[in-house]
Formats: sequence, C-alpha cells, structure tokens
Amino acid sequence: MMPLRPGAAIGILGGGQLGRMLASAGAQMGFDVLIYSPEDDPPAGRVAAGAWSAAWDDADALGEFARACDVVTLEFENVPVRTVEAIEAAGTPVRPGAASLTVSQDRYTEKTFLNAHGIPTAPFEPVDGPGDVIVALKAVGGKGVLKTRREGYDGKGQAWIRSQEEAEAAWHRIGEAPAILEAAIGFECEISVIVARSATGEMRTWAPPRNLHKDGILSVSTVPSGLPKSIEDEARAKAETLVAALGHIGVLALEFFVLPDGKLLANEFAPRVHNSGHWTPEACQTGQFEQHMRCVAGWPLGDTRRLFDAEMLNLIGEAGLVSPASLGPHDTLTLYGKREARPGRKMGHITRRLGPRKD
Ligand code: ADP
Ligand code: MG
Repeated sequence: MMPLRPGAAIGILGGGQLGRMLASAGAQMGFDVLIYSPEDDPPAGRVAAGAWSAAWDDADALGEFARACDVVTLEFENVPVRTVEAIEAAGTPVRPGAASLTVSQDRYTEKTFLNAHGIPTAPFEPVDGPGDVIVALKAVGGKGVLKTRREGYDGKGQAWIRSQEEAEAAWHRIGEAPAILEAAIGFECEISVIVARSATGEMRTWAPPRNLHKDGILSVSTVPSGLPKSIEDEARAKAETLVAALGHIGVLALEFFVLPDGKLLANEFAPRVHNSGHWTPEACQTGQFEQHMRCVAGWPLGDTRRLFDAEMLNLIGEAGLVSPASLGPHDTLTLYGKREARPGRKMGHITRRLGPRKD
C-alpha cells in the first residue's frame, strides 16, 4: 500500500477513549477518521468525521464502512476476527491484521506465543473444568491467579487462589469459562513497553513506564521507571521481537513483571495503543496516537525520545469529575467525554510534568 495522502479516510473499530484520541491525532494529520462501534453515541464518534453504530456481525454495515475507508485500524482487541476478515474481504486493508488479534484474544495462545518467541512468562496451565483447577494449582506451586482465556480486562474475569479450598469458589467466580491458572508472581514492580512497527518494518519504542495498579486497574504510570537501563533495554528488545514475530503494523503494548533479581516476565500484550502510554503525546515529540496513525497510513515513524520526567494519573469513576480549577500549570488534562461516571470506569487522565529529564 502506498503512503496515504492527507484527506484519505481511516476507519477505527471501537469507539472508546482510545479511538477518541486516535481520531484526534488522525484529524491533526489531515485524515478523515470514521468510527465503527456497536455503541450508540460513543466517545470517539464525537471527535470524528463520521460514525457508524452497528453490530460487529452486521455484514451490510461492515461492507459500507469498508468501502468508505482507505484503511481500517482498531482501538479494541476483542473485535471479532470475523469482522476484520469481512472488511479485508471487501478489499480494505486492516492494520494490525488478524494475527495480532487471534494471538492476543486468548490468554493461553498469547502466553504460548510469547514463550515460543523467547519471551518468558509466569508458569501457566490450561483449566477447562473444576477438576483441572486442583491439578493446575499443584503444577504452579500452590498459589495463583485463575484468568478466563478470553474477554478479561481491568482485572475482570480473574480470581486469586491461595489454597486448595479456594479453588472451587474461584472457578465459580470467573463464570466457569475456559481459563488458565497462572503462578502468583512476587514482583518488584510492573513496567510496560509501548512499541510501534511501521508498514515497512521500522520499529520504535518509548521509555518503559513503571505502572501501579489499584484493584486490577492501572492507576499511575511514571517515567523514568527508575530501573537500570539494561533492564529497560531488554524489555524494549522483547517488545520489538514480539511485533516483528506478529508482523504487527501499528502500536502495541507489552506488560511485564520485574522480579526482585531483575528478571523480566511478560504478562500480556494489547495489540493497540495503551493506557500506560497516555503520557507520550505530552512528554515526547511523537506520542503513541500519532505514531499509530503514521503506521496505519504507511508513513515514516516519528521520534519517541522522552523530553521530560512525567507521570500519568488515571481519573477513575467519580474522580473523573475533576475540577479543572484544581489543575496545576504542569498538568495536562484529557477527558474522554463519557456521559456518566461509574465505579471503575476510566473517565480521563492527567499527564503531569515532574521536572527536567534526569536520566
Ligand atoms: P488485565 O487484562 O485485567 O489487565 P492482567 O493479567 O494484566 O489482566 O492482570 C491485571 C493485574 O493483576 C496485573 O497488572 C498485576 O498487577 C496483577 N496480576 C496479574 N497476574 C498476576 C500474577 N500471576 N501474579 C501477581 N500479580 C498478577
Ligand atoms: Mg493487564
């Protein structure tokens, strides 16, 4: 595909905050961004050039959307693979392609793929029924996290098991769905690498943020991470290995546990822009949203070097009703335009400049 000219139409599957920030970046680059989402009035639709509200399996709507777009991308990793295939069948390329989705949509497939490419993860076992839980629990060392293979996010679809007695309740709690049991990891901290791979295979990573989760939801991301450069470089290299192995085009985020001895275990990846990269538009010449659109459009990549020390604070639930009057001069507020605050719902974030770059 030739590089897209400004004025071309880029479609996005999914209409949440990630689509909204991608749409803004795309508009700045001169593209018409079109949103396709099963939701009515999605946050992304209100900053885009157009929006389709239709089901993922609505063949007519998908065909019409595909014909209106020069290329299509996504902001949501659980878009059915068939939806992507339908758009491609209509002659419109989808970036990233189906492979990135197929691998990331199933935690068992995902971790197997990571291990196969030399990227270690926590030990894990498949669990397909209540009897498997006890067997798997022994195999992973007597303590672990039961996670549904599909559809989990923000800590949903997960249950901790600390003893055999808790096994059955955990199996109920995750809805008795096909799952994996993962060994409990006593990590020192969590980091992630946001990586971009262009249509010509050019790759760039940003500085890995240190990520703090609360109740399974990302709360704060801080750069620099404070970790030795050797660990950060290893994490960046692993993320590049992954996107190359997937043939991924666009941005992807790979999450890691950092062990007390400095070893890295990959946790999961998202084949899209990521919450832990929300500081990049302010703190780097090229942020993750612009970079993703560059990849999708077949443009060359921009510089990802970090310009200052920063933290990204998520505004969750009622905290999202932040008063702009409370903002400091080094805070940049981004709100997602959601109509109502609900507990655990991501409403916006603040990127705070902490000071000049020290590393
Ligand atoms: P989600 O898709 O909900 O983000 P994750 O697998 O990333 O699911 O889990 C969310 C968080 O739960 C992680 O960022 C980490 O803080 C904690 N967690 C997940 N798996 C483990 C594990 N095996 N050991 C220790 N903590 C874990
Ligand atoms: Mg996660």
